[in-house]
Amino acid sequence: MKFHSLASSSAGNAYLVESAGSVLMIDCGIAARSEMLARMGSVGISPDSIVGIVFTHDHSDHAKGLGVFHRKFPDIPLFANLMTSEAIASSAGVPEEEFIPFENGQSFEVGPFEVCAFPIPHDVPDPVGFMVRAEGIGYFHATDVGTPLDSIGVHLAEADYATLEANHDRGLLAGSDRSEMLKRRIRGPRGHLSNDEAADLVRRFASRRLKALRLAHLSCECNAPHLADAAVRDALREIAREDVDLAVLPPYEPVTWGAA
Ligand SMILES: [Zn+2]
Ligand SMILES: [Zn+2]
Repeated sequence: MKFHSLASSSAGNAYLVESAGSVLMIDCGIAARSEMLARMGSVGISPDSIVGIVFTHDHSDHAKGLGVFHRKFPDIPLFANLMTSEAIASSAGVPEEEFIPFENGQSFEVGPFEVCAFPIPHDVPDPVGFMVRAEGIGYFHATDVGTPLDSIGVHLAEADYATLEANHDRGLLAGSDRSEMLKRRIRGPRGHLSNDEAADLVRRFASRRLKALRLAHLSCECNAPHLADAAVRDALREIAREDVDLAVLPPYEPVTWGAA
């Protein structure tokens, strides 16, 4: 399996998982279709290879590209749980019947991928993270996580490759000029994962299987790549896993990582 991040921040999120020529898209949060296609092209992916798009939740930074993308590529199947598809259908102007609903906790197949959604705490109806399996490899994907719950960690423990949110540094968030209300929302139990909370999940749940970890959805204002990296690197050191390939995903540039 190979992974591509096309966008990773509160301005937009779109991730690709590639296996044997088939590609699964996780979230479709790049508004301009030309930009989406350009970024895909720059990592060598053609839209023809996309076997499905799965959605974590309905926030616009994860779904705002769907309307225009779906009109251009109506044959690419869309997957979301019921609450998420209801919300995205109305915001993206895509009929709800176009979505293939899945149940959290029940595996479903998308091309060569076996996908299973698990609930995460975030301030929308029924948000999820995903475990994706193909080629005997497990990929964990969780952004927009309010609380580092054990029920999320157990999936991380099964991962060979993982993308995990490290949204903010607590000190930078506290000192930022954001409103008190927004600060409360971000650090609240249904907001976003801080660097320390991401490190905590990694410390408690990363297993011997984990080969590579990418930190995602960093706040441009309230975080810095070196802070997120340092927090999680410390956690890996504590569990004697300095060998894990760790890096931060950039907010706008497409990047490829994972197995050859
Ligand atoms: Zn988000
Ligand atoms: Zn969100």
